[in-house]
Amino acid sequence: MPGILYLVATPIGNLEDMTYRAVRILQEADEIAAEDTRNSRKLLTHFDLHTPMTSYHEFNKYDKAEVLVRQMQEGKVIALITDAGTPGISDPGEVLVQRCYEAGIPVVPVPGACAAVNALIASGQATRRFCFEAFLPADKKERRAVLEELKRETRTMVIYEAPHRLVKTLEELEGVLGDRPLTVAKELTKRHETFLMTSLGKAVEHFREEPPKGEYVLVIAGKSEEEQKKEQQARWEDVPVEEHIRNLIEKGLTEKEAIKQVAVERGVPKREIYQIHVLKNKINE
Ligand code: SAM
Repeated sequence: MPGILYLVATPIGNLEDMTYRAVRILQEADEIAAEDTRNSRKLLTHFDLHTPMTSYHEFNKYDKAEVLVRQMQEGKVIALITDAGTPGISDPGEVLVQRCYEAGIPVVPVPGACAAVNALIASGQATRRFCFEAFLPADKKERRAVLEELKRETRTMVIYEAPHRLVKTLEELEGVLGDRPLTVAKELTKRHETFLMTSLGKAVEHFREEPPKGEYVLVIAGKSEEEQKKEQQARWEDVPVEEHIRNLIEKGLTEKEAIKQVAVERGVPKREIYQIHVLKNKINE
């Protein structure tokens, strides 16, 4: 019988966020794979856990995943924990999970704290649709490409950032997205937890004056309908309505279909296009 990989979420600051199930799984596992064993030792001591620990981190994730998978193939139950929060979210957990699937080892999540989700739900921004961008890439070219993609994003965006790079990242985001609504979630679940509801521009000014300290999540509003509409209209600014309709008729649409399509493409009511069209025809008669 193969073993199991448990992905055990641990607190992101407040130890009371540890779940009963997480404690039990960590107690019953044969081994705990931890991102930073020294850091996790404090957690295990707090909960009086004595399960053996081994390290699994960014710099040994490929080789160590092979070792851990072999152990699970022999029947061992392994619990993966990371420095804080949910394993697999902006940490090396993903690689081990993939290897487990390849080897037919069951993977079981043990839910708990996650900075991204908690920042989002208390951000005051739209939560129905969102995307998680983790840390923006460090590589210049990749970063530019991601920022360009975000320009079109209509969902709320959740981004992680380290304090020493926060101002630069906010400046870049403002440069690309403009002065969008932003919530800065700081030190979630800790004594100095704060939610700063602001905008990208104001946040840049704020953090230039008051250098960031602690852990941060950025929750940025997606492109609004109004912004989308303005952009759509700007795209057609230089093309007269009549020319737009004529182009579509030449492509095979009927007059009625063309009017409807022009309205859709320009993001204006069909009635408006119809009136311009009728007026133009009257002038030409
Ligand atoms: N696996 C973690 C999770 O589930 O959220 C994320 C790990 S990632 C390496 C660390 C980043 O998460 C930090 O740089 C910060 O952006 C965010 N983060 C973690 N804990 C946080 C907290 N208590 N408050 C705000 N942000 C936090």
